[in-house]
Amino acid sequence: MAMTNLQFIEAIAGAAIKYAPQFGICVVSPIIAQACLESGYGTSYKAQYHNYFGMKYRKNRLDCHSGYFRDGSQEQKADGTYYPVTDDWYAFESLDAGVKGYFQYTSIPRYDNLKGVTDPHKYLELIREDGYATSLDYVKNVWAVVEKMGLTKYDERVIMEEETKMGYTNSPLIDCTVLSPNHSGQRTHKIDRITPHCVVGQLSAESIGACFPNGREASCNYGVGYDGRQCLIVEEKNRSWCTSSSANDQRAITIEVASDKTAPYAFTNEAYKGLVELCIDICKRNGFNKVLWFADKDKSLSYEPKAGECVLTVHRWFTNKSCPGDWMYNRMSQLAAEINNALGVQSGNDDVAIKIPNDGKTLYRVQCGAYKVKANADNQLKAIKAKGVDAFITQVDGLYKVQVGAYSIKSNADVQLAKMKSLGFDCFITTVKMADEAFVPRKSAEEIATEIWTGKCSDSRWDVWGNGDTRKERLEAAGYNYNAVQEAIARLYK
Ligand SMILES: [Zn+2]
Repeated sequence: MAMTNLQFIEAIAGAAIKYAPQFGICVVSPIIAQACLESGYGTSYKAQYHNYFGMKYRKNRLDCHSGYFRDGSQEQKADGTYYPVTDDWYAFESLDAGVKGYFQYTSIPRYDNLKGVTDPHKYLELIREDGYATSLDYVKNVWAVVEKMGLTKYDERVIMEEETKMGYTNSPLIDCTVLSPNHSGQRTHKIDRITPHCVVGQLSAESIGACFPNGREASCNYGVGYDGRQCLIVEEKNRSWCTSSSANDQRAITIEVASDKTAPYAFTNEAYKGLVELCIDICKRNGFNKVLWFADKDKSLSYEPKAGECVLTVHRWFTNKSCPGDWMYNRMSQLAAEINNALGVQSGNDDVAIKIPNDGKTLYRVQCGAYKVKANADNQLKAIKAKGVDAFITQVDGLYKVQVGAYSIKSNADVQLAKMKSLGFDCFITTVKMADEAFVPRKSAEEIATEIWTGKCSDSRWDVWGNGDTRKERLEAAGYNYNAVQEAIARLYK
């Protein structure tokens, strides 16, 4: 099936953009035009062998060809007259190899002056002088194709792809990755904003990731779960669909954070810390040494950040929503101060020192006793709960361990430890590898049994735990052991 001229250009451009940087070449429009002209947009005899550039066979010059073939052609002398030549020509297995062959062919010292040239017309003048072509009108003819087909737009893509490789990375802090197909591909604006959102539900990092399947028409770059764990959802290089504003999402890292389902959409302490950490990491990787919070829509949107500056924006400026909720909105200046603190900016706020966590796979817990006899563990659990602290029991190696919290950030566990000690409990911090446990239990089987029995559900995804298969599915999705919960119901209520 023959390609149209445009399809031919797209195909050559794709391969040229891929290989040019590897060979130190910064423009591709003259190269695409050379291929168009030399191969009649891929219709020439030589093009059957993917030789689009009329490259004569030279022993030991390339390593990406598949062989050579013999064909006649004409060459032009300095006086303008033509003479026939029969020559051997490179044959390639694919278009990609044919284009790679061009770059290898022109990577000998004679063509060194092409490296780093950013003016496409200059590139043509130089390659003609280097002896690539003999035709006197070569530069004029090739340049006419560049102009007629509008090929210089491909030169911009070389620059963009290079910037992407150089500049765009993703956070190494993330605990999980649930990539959403919902994005617009590569950003058209460099990153210079961060936009925190409330996801309206106390979800885990994974559950936030699961919120944006195909067809949902929404996404975000990152999600932060109720426990501070972080999920990569749309790579930083791509534009997410998050803030009801193309202009904002093209330049912002968007972050959905677990929150209450109702106003003021509060975050947990852990989720907020997770957001702070992620923002610090985003700033460090993207070369920001300062974030700015103006608390003013017009000022924020019209501000052009200077090098190293990043502006915080909020969803409510772009649509009729309260996002990120009053809880977070009222803490935006605190968020900016904490990020700037960590970045070394003097802000007069000597709050919290931010601790960058662990490997992302370790959870910190406060352990308040380990018992061989379950009844003793139950008594301790009751005593802790009587002080208003949410605790749970895990069974490990024949011991019933009474624990509080599950933190991905050690400083949060430290705070909890101090609190437990102040309440008179003898505790210490212990760690668990997430891989060792399929889930982080937040409530005991008994508590969940009580919820089920009284028609409540502490997981914000559902109003009730439900019955039968639905209950089993939901309990497992939330990380609870179905059989243990059923057993507790039987024990407590039947
Ligand atoms: Zn939002």
